[in-house]
Amino acid sequence: MTFEQLKEILTNIKAHYQNFAIYDYVVKEWYKVLKDYEFDDVMESLVDHLTSDNSNELPKAYQLVKYLTPEDLKKECESNRYIVSCNLCDRWMSLAEFDKHYDKCLHEFGRKFKNTKSV
Ligand SMILES: [Zn+2]
Repeated sequence: MTFEQLKEILTNIKAHYQNFAIYDYVVKEWYKVLKDYEFDDVMESLVDHLTSDNSNELPKAYQLVKYLTPEDLKKECESNRYIVSCNLCDRWMSLAEFDKHYDKCLHEFGRKFKNTKSV
């Protein structure tokens, strides 16, 4: 993502967590962690966090990208013959990545499903 996109994400976090301070060193640190990822993916993670049981806690940069695929790897996947889409989250990835991804995704999906049902 671009630096502008990062600022948009941080502003978004600030909107939900008033005590989140956007100091220069915070911006630098977040950029270091998030720059390799796509804006839309990170925003999705943020929304997931905001709607989760942990939404009272400030989101962490590393936590937001934990299950995301870096942009360059995504491009690599596009030129890879062995790409699969996860039937739970509709994300495209290489077979090797899918092996690691599926268990985590299933867990996430179960959590989301539980949340939806309790509403
Ligand atoms: Zn998935």
